Amino acid sequence: MDFDLSKEQRDIKKAARRFAAGEFPNIARECDRQEKYPRDLVTKAAELGFFGINIPSEYGGGGCGYLEKCIITEEFWRVDPGLGSVLTAATFGADMVDLYGTGEQKQKYLTPLTTGQAVMGSAITEPDAGSDVAAIKTRATKDGDDYVINGNKMFITNGTVASYFAVICLTDPENPSRHRRHSVILVERDREGFKAVKIQYKLGIRASDTAELFFADVRVPSENLIGEEGKGFYQFMEFFNRTRIHVGAEGVGIAQGAMEKAINHAKNRSQFGTALSSFQSIQFKIAEMATRIQAARNLVYEAAFRADKRKSDQRLTAMAKWFAGETAVRVAEEAVQIHGGYGYVGDYDVERYYRDAKIIEIYEGTKEIEKIIISRALLSK
Ligand SMILES: Cc1cc2nc3c(=O)[nH]c(=O)nc-3n(C[C@H](O)[C@H](O)[C@H](O)COP(=O)(O)OP(=O)(O)OC[C@H]3O[C@@H](n4cnc5c(N)ncnc54)[C@H](O)[C@@H]3O)c2cc1C
Repeated sequence: MDFDLSKEQRDIKKAARRFAAGEFPNIARECDRQEKYPRDLVTKAAELGFFGINIPSEYGGGGCGYLEKCIITEEFWRVDPGLGSVLTAATFGADMVDLYGTGEQKQKYLTPLTTGQAVMGSAITEPDAGSDVAAIKTRATKDGDDYVINGNKMFITNGTVASYFAVICLTDPENPSRHRRHSVILVERDREGFKAVKIQYKLGIRASDTAELFFADVRVPSENLIGEEGKGFYQFMEFFNRTRIHVGAEGVGIAQGAMEKAINHAKNRSQFGTALSSFQSIQFKIAEMATRIQAARNLVYEAAFRADKRKSDQRLTAMAKWFAGETAVRVAEEAVQIHGGYGYVGDYDVERYYRDAKIIEIYEGTKEIEKIIISRALLSK
């Protein structure tokens, strides 16, 4: 077992760190406060090859693996989770096309993502179907060579900025198995009948675009079907087995960034005539933060490593995402505590990390759903 990153992986980490440290601090607070999506930053990051790092090189990607994407994700989220989310989610849906798309679909939908010409989204959640993915009702009805889509999707990342979406739709409502009723259809935003309405005033990751999507008789050709009809539920479960590893890396990045800020503050702030870092209670907090982060990172790296070996492990992915999410929330909370009153106000960035951290325990499967996946795998043996 080798726990060291390769030279190439270390170089990727350095490049991501340099880019984030150079570009994020100038705009992070403004994008958070004004809920501003930084399109220019997206273009810059794409030009430097940070997008599609794990998209095959024949489609313009980096041809690397999930681990390399985790490394970049962690570095971006470490410097600012809001901007990190904008950049790591810009290709959200690419794995669906890569896993199940035809060669033609890959050429058409993956290549523009790697250059930053297009941003993608994945639309699963609906107002009445969140954790219960099989309850999705957005309907795609066959009409000649087209599908006609009606329904709406909730909380969709990149909703008002993406060029296209992987949308899970009900195609076979009468199928006796509720897991065989759905299909994944690629919907371009310029299709007639499509509308996106931005959702404002989020708790955190406020630079990231989130919207409700509406489909009113949206007509798309049947060639936009990704994978097989009736397999949409299973395709998305496999998709999440991979993308949730990156969500784990987001949590590790938040926790690492928050801990570094806490250490800096503890060394530089004095009370009772001595640095905060000289108090044992503060030292213990730092030790606990560092240990949790290391454990979370190891879980995330192992899950990514296995996915790269084509042995993606649903239970391990769920463990990585749940534990990294809890680590992010706990570490960010302790970072605020170490900053005292200064942690509670906007001039110190830890309050933003604290708000941003919570999303890791909610999206792409809540922490409760992750625990169901883990326990089901153990108890069904
Ligand atoms: C900022 C943001 C971005 C998002 N981006 C996207 C996106 O790009 N695409 C997309 O499709 N969705 C997206 N989502 C939606 C997100 O994935 C869902 O919010 C999440 O899956 C939970 O669904 P829900 O909100 O309907 O909560 P619910 O499913 O109603 O859950 C509410 C609570 O009940 C618990 N619960 C539910 N079922 C069970 C059970 N069986 N056992 C135990 N506890 C249970 C949950 O864990 C949770 O605590 C986003 C959400 C946010 C906030």
